[in-house]
Amino acid sequence: AELDTLDVIVLAAILLGTVAYFTKGKYWGVTKDPYATSFANANGLKAGKTRNIVEKMEESGKNCIIFYGSQTGTAEDYASRLAKEGKSRFGLETMVADLEDFDYDNLDEIPSDKVVMFVLATYGEGEPTDNAVDFYEFITGEDVSFSSGNEPALGNLNYVAFGLGNNTYEHYNSMVRNVNKALEKLGAHRIGEAGEGDDGAGTMEEDFLAWKDPMWAALQKKMGLEEREAVYEPIFGIVERGNLTKESPEVYLGEPNKMHLDGTPKGPFNAHNPYIAPIAKSYELFNVKDRNCLHMEVDISASNLTYQTGDHIAVWPTNPGEEVDRFMEILDLADKRHNVISVKALEPTAKVPFPTPTTYDAIVRYHMEICAPVSRQFIATLAAFAPDETTKAEMTKLGGDKDYFHEKINVHHLNIARVLQIFGKGKKWSNVPFSALIEGINKLQPRYYSISSSSIEQPKLVSITAVVETQHLPGREDPFRGVATNYLLALSEKQNGVANPTPFGLSYEITGPRNKYTGIHVPVHIRHSNFKLPSDPSKPIILIGPGTGVAPMRGFVRERIKQAENGEAVGKTILFFGCRKRNEDFLYEKEWEEAKEALGDKFELVTAFSREGNKKVYVQHRLKERSQEINELLEKKAYFYVCGDAANMAREVNTVLAQIISEQRGIPEAKAEEIVKNMRASNQYQEDVW
Ligand code: FAD
Repeated sequence: AELDTLDVIVLAAILLGTVAYFTKGKYWGVTKDPYATSFANANGLKAGKTRNIVEKMEESGKNCIIFYGSQTGTAEDYASRLAKEGKSRFGLETMVADLEDFDYDNLDEIPSDKVVMFVLATYGEGEPTDNAVDFYEFITGEDVSFSSGNEPALGNLNYVAFGLGNNTYEHYNSMVRNVNKALEKLGAHRIGEAGEGDDGAGTMEEDFLAWKDPMWAALQKKMGLEEREAVYEPIFGIVERGNLTKESPEVYLGEPNKMHLDGTPKGPFNAHNPYIAPIAKSYELFNVKDRNCLHMEVDISASNLTYQTGDHIAVWPTNPGEEVDRFMEILDLADKRHNVISVKALEPTAKVPFPTPTTYDAIVRYHMEICAPVSRQFIATLAAFAPDETTKAEMTKLGGDKDYFHEKINVHHLNIARVLQIFGKGKKWSNVPFSALIEGINKLQPRYYSISSSSIEQPKLVSITAVVETQHLPGREDPFRGVATNYLLALSEKQNGVANPTPFGLSYEITGPRNKYTGIHVPVHIRHSNFKLPSDPSKPIILIGPGTGVAPMRGFVRERIKQAENGEAVGKTILFFGCRKRNEDFLYEKEWEEAKEALGDKFELVTAFSREGNKKVYVQHRLKERSQEINELLEKKAYFYVCGDAANMAREVNTVLAQIISEQRGIPEAKAEEIVKNMRASNQYQEDVW
């Protein structure tokens, strides 16, 4: 294999490092292969790893720690970007840390010449992300206490805070707001403003960029930092493993971890470890040519996975071959795509986000979100590696000008490889260090789906109802195609007899690494949710589920049919469903007739078809028409459920419900809104929105 100059430098650095480590004899002693990344370590599973943040900072010589609370990877990405920028612009010794990996009762011992950053996403109904639950409970707890007993407790702590939220949710950015409040109360000193990014307005990235510059200025002042000319320093070293081929058994070809590589995957299955589940059956739900919606039944019977009606299933997608190829070509990786490499963190606190040794192909196909929106900051970083001066100037402009970036890149939904192709006029980008790509491109994330089956009816078969993501964009020839849903479509086509499915010209490695997923399998895990039927089945329920928002509602209705069959008294179930046209995208039409037969007047379906009449009719309009009945049901303590589009529908339904209560009960709207709020607080009003 040919090594370019950077590879040689990096290789030399690693060899030196390795020698140093060997002589100290403490880092490599336990691993057989000094280049193999321990993925267990990457997931924080390594035994004996310290949970003491002060100790960790001391032993690794860090003076800036960036904690993240992340659900979908964005907060984690922002944390990494802050770490990188702090290092390259100000020479800060930064480290990124998963909140889950540390204890917090000695935050008071972090000296005042250091800084702690918090990048915190708010999840669902104002909740902390899974990895931040313990921290959140600790820091906002009534009886929070620290080891030293200082007064005020966090008087030495300097911190910076940024939140990721969505203003279409009621508790906008409540995570960062509440943590900020708690830290202030404990006497900690915030540097700069507590930033807030808004996914609802689609401005997350720009909010982040707008927040960080004044923050760095404030931090610079506070800590007396000198800004230097930012030079790119790779965080990861890439080493070609000439002695290995992609057939070598220790080489990861997309297997998510060691157990999968060894062919002995076992539970617990979770966000670090998927279950490779057989798909029992799948079929199309729409009656139109150019739009698809899949119903898919995932068989979890051979695993120890369980679910409850209303939970979510996560699907681990792989990237389409055509986009992997595009990426390989433009970055001049095509010739070496199957070469085996090891990736090693050059920094003891950085984590390699996938297991190695592996191939470029496997990394790009299975582990990188290469189709996703590109960050403006990353474009600016890549300018330094442009194939010529004109391209460099253009990339610098794109990176620096928000409106220009939006107009040229965002509007067309360009992914990274397309950006490089278009703005480099087809020239290969041979100079981009692979480390920069690992740092700048997110980890490929599982996609969540609201389970559309009932666990009492089919405890071991989980159903998914997924609309295949396609967007026709002006000024772009090929439509934008979603990653996971087109992958599922390919799986479904294969299952239904297409030998080599290429939906919309896209092909997927659906048989998985080393053909381990042969026989129509999909990697999944289950995430438990709070979206749950009332424990008393006789309570009435009102379900608002337009489009694929009907998914969990189908589970609820089927559950009630089963309960009725079992002789339980089942309360009124009223489902509001909406779609474009009755004969096109009316999901589960037949099943609602069966529900009617099984439940009689205990079940009612109310439909809203938006493209049938002259006026667009949506579920919220139908809800309003039923004001009196809805109010009566609420007075009988009906539970109210909303699933689907968070941006518009869920918000309008909330507004309409408050109007109904106000009108029907003759009370002011403000009072009615208060009632709706209380319903939410007591779980009588539940949302599952995205
Ligand atoms: P992706 O490739 O992830 O694209 C999704 C969107 O991101 C695009 O439409 C576009 O707006 C944007 N985007 C992506 N790439 C770019 C780019 N380069 N430039 C600009 N914009 C870009 N969906 C269902 O169909 N049914 C369900 O029951 C369901 N339940 C859900 C439950 C939860 C809790 C959550 C969080 C989501 C749920 N979803 C559901 C949505 C689902 O998780 C996926 O987001 C959806 O299927 C699209 O995934 P994808 O990989 O096909 O699309």
